[in-house]
Amino acid sequence: MLPGMDTAVNDFLNDLRPRVAGDLRSDIYTRTLYSTDASLYQVMPYGVLFPRHADDMQAAIEAAAKYRVPILPRAGGSSLAGQTVNTALVLDTSRWLDQILEINVEESWARVQPGIVLDAFNAALKPHNLQFGPDPASSNRAGLGGIVSNNATGSHSIVYGMTADHVLEMQVLLDDGTPAHFRPLDGDELRQHMAKDGREGEIYRAVATLIGDDANRQIVRAGTPRHWRRCGGYNLARFIHDGTIDHYLPQDSRFNLANLVCGAEGTLAAITELKLKLVERPKLAVLAIIEFPTLLASLEVVPEILETQPTAVVN
Ligand SMILES: Cc1cc2nc3c(=O)[nH]c(=O)nc-3n(C[C@H](O)[C@H](O)[C@H](O)COP(=O)(O)OP(=O)(O)OC[C@H]3O[C@@H](n4cnc5c(N)ncnc54)[C@H](O)[C@@H]3O)c2cc1C
Repeated sequence: MLPGMDTAVNDFLNDLRPRVAGDLRSDIYTRTLYSTDASLYQVMPYGVLFPRHADDMQAAIEAAAKYRVPILPRAGGSSLAGQTVNTALVLDTSRWLDQILEINVEESWARVQPGIVLDAFNAALKPHNLQFGPDPASSNRAGLGGIVSNNATGSHSIVYGMTADHVLEMQVLLDDGTPAHFRPLDGDELRQHMAKDGREGEIYRAVATLIGDDANRQIVRAGTPRHWRRCGGYNLARFIHDGTIDHYLPQDSRFNLANLVCGAEGTLAAITELKLKLVERPKLAVLAIIEFPTLLASLEVVPEILETQPTAVVN
């Protein structure tokens, strides 16, 4: 038995190893490497799986459910609050699941795997004069699976909003390993999904009931901060489109469980594929530098600067 691991974890790893094509590592060296991310936390994982394809992730999640061992999806590991360290099996998607599957230039969307790094994605989009809107400063290492799961954004959030505003659809694995395709559903389609057997139907029924209840909607309204740049907690506010929380209406207000997975930090489902909205690259970039005697003085004029409609204001 591996030191520091209980029998269930050893049985889990032994059961899983022959079922995956990717490397499954539980040596102390690998575990130590993956015990840190960009945060100040350090927690030793049980092991690390480098899935070769979504089937490996599915096998890991099915076995994890059987042995009741936590799993932790990871992309670039650039999270700042310990999101990718835990006593769990880490699923590192950055090694193999980092491909662009399709770019649709005419309709401005792309399908990608969760491990692709944002800068690499944008480099492939550049010849088409397209890019992914949100621009977290970690774009040279952060992967789209992590960016979506943290609902990240960057200095151009004034024009592009949050990552959740740019996620159209996703392929995920639920907590028992069931694959599901989360996409916008109209009323009839939602009812069909709610009638499904198994974990997927259960989730559609639970979320639709939860968010359909007036008392619950009141709780979501009361508990949601009134600013749009928010990424804490589950994204239930994105299911309420009556102007009481956000004053702008989303382009597509149909029921889409992808909204809930954005910002869920890997706790609700493991993403195996994303369909992302793309934006046109800016035609021109202009930089204005203003000097201020104090930090406070620079902050005080931000409202005035915003009236000039900049794409970013950096202090
Ligand atoms: C130098 C630096 C600058 C940064 N700048 C910004 C910034 O400008 N704006 C900003 O918003 N953030 C910023 N961040 C933090 C930012 O949130 C992360 O960089 C980025 O969102 C995470 O990407 P990642 O690939 O490293 O994800 P990871 O850290 O690997 O994972 C992030 C979360 O996503 C989950 N996850 C990963 N893959 C999957 C998957 N396939 N399925 C389900 N869940 C998954 C993980 O479990 C974790 O909870 C910065 C961080 C650093 C270190």
